Amino acid sequence: MSLIEELVASGRHRLLIGGEWRDASDGAQITVLDPATAEPITAVPSGSVADGLAAVDAAAQAAPAWADTPPRVRAEILRAAFEALVDRADAFAELIVREMGKALREAKAEVLYAAEFFRWFSGEAVRNLGSIATAPEGDKRIISIHQPVGVSLLVTPWNFPAAMATRKIGPAIAAGCTMILKPASDTPLTALAIGALLEEVGVPPGVVNVVPTSRSGEVVGAMLDDPRVRKLSFTGSTEVGKLLLEKAARHVVNCSMELGGNAPFVVFEDADLDAAVEGAMVAKMRNGGQSCIAANRIYVHAAVADAFADRFAAAMAATRVGVGLDPSTELGPLINLQAAEGIAELVDQTASHGAQVRVGGRRPDRPGFFFEPTVLTDVRPDDPILATEIFGPVAPIVTFETEEEAIDLANGTLWGLAAYVYTGDLARGLRVAEAIEAGMVGINRGLISDPAAPFGGVKESGLGREGAHEGLMEFLETKYIAASW
Ligand code: NAP
Ligand code: MG
Repeated sequence: MSLIEELVASGRHRLLIGGEWRDASDGAQITVLDPATAEPITAVPSGSVADGLAAVDAAAQAAPAWADTPPRVRAEILRAAFEALVDRADAFAELIVREMGKALREAKAEVLYAAEFFRWFSGEAVRNLGSIATAPEGDKRIISIHQPVGVSLLVTPWNFPAAMATRKIGPAIAAGCTMILKPASDTPLTALAIGALLEEVGVPPGVVNVVPTSRSGEVVGAMLDDPRVRKLSFTGSTEVGKLLLEKAARHVVNCSMELGGNAPFVVFEDADLDAAVEGAMVAKMRNGGQSCIAANRIYVHAAVADAFADRFAAAMAATRVGVGLDPSTELGPLINLQAAEGIAELVDQTASHGAQVRVGGRRPDRPGFFFEPTVLTDVRPDDPILATEIFGPVAPIVTFETEEEAIDLANGTLWGLAAYVYTGDLARGLRVAEAIEAGMVGINRGLISDPAAPFGGVKESGLGREGAHEGLMEFLETKYIAASW
């Protein structure tokens, strides 16, 4: 039996609220599509405002006892969750492919990455360290402790349906918070499967509630209007993030925001070009380009631009496109029709401004939401494609002449999530990394994600960090106790 069939057979494809699996209060449903065929897979309940508020009730009721649980107990639950997810990695990977479309090998990598957040935060759960100091005047002690921020609302996107959830659930559990997970409506099944797994490894009822809904604005808005919700951890677009920051202002809710990106990928004339092409393939094509840290703007020094473009175009052209479940597939479909149509339009528009389509450029003639791996050269530095989060397998290449120009181009955006620099000169790499306005920079590396590293952005790419010790702190409040004795 597949994991989807297992969930449906046991009724655990439904809303998870206070330890019970239930239908939506008004019977509404979300149809989940397979992006490789555009056919429905199954339907899950679509939570109503009443369901969202019931989940807040459940989380609020479970909060005091959960906050009092010894950190070691929470650590061991997370460790068990890590092991259970690794054990079932193949089943989870298949589920992710079915509802999200990515290639099986990438889905497997995502599951292992997702599990690592449980392992990492299992360690962090027992590292909630405070401090004690003697005040400068000597009149008191300054004691700082960290306490769970409280009921947390976790809103996640569809592109990494497992990892974006565990990156929030892991630290929330470690910190002693209870939570409501609101997954993207394109990919609710992975979130529900994670809810079921956490139930199995001993997370008490009400600690992790999962409420898929297609009425996201309304339901998330109602939860944020409930003063018992003290934390919003959101991963998604900058546009929705801004809306939610406004809503969170009403009750001054603590916010962590992982928003969009527009990563520059800078190749200097002294770079190892083969390594740069390999890195660009990873940074551009991981998840079919549907990643917030995807290389979105490739800036190559004029002296090596042709050589780079030739080799990169060859690697892109050699990418095997197909349905995700075929183990030889390297690039699956995009998430939905709107995404595929939007990217086709963006490529046509850029070509009409004079860019050369070196490879790809079209939606292949087959069912599902596919788009060919595409390389665009002769892209003007002010072309609108460079100000757009492409979110697909399309790589625009722009040339530059000087280091200063490269830095200016890299920084010419409102976003600031990730950036990549390829150079044979480490001093230059570090100098440029310091000058680029981004939360994360890869030097001679196309893959930067690591649960042990602080992930997050500057400028309009967000607030706060996930992973590392910082990820735990996002779910804790600092309390200062002034003491005399
Ligand atoms: P999205 O449209 O912003 O959606 C993200 C989440 O917010 C989904 O659960 C969505 O639910 C929900 N949502 C949508 N409108 C809402 C509203 N008005 N009020 C409350 N919730 C709402 O983003 P997406 O298309 O799923 O994901 C792609 C975006 O995520 C990209 O911009 C990408 O860069 C960003 N991202 C960032 C990171 C990071 O770490 N910085 C990581 C991954 C992705 P529905 O699905 O029901 O609309
Ligand atoms: Mg969306």
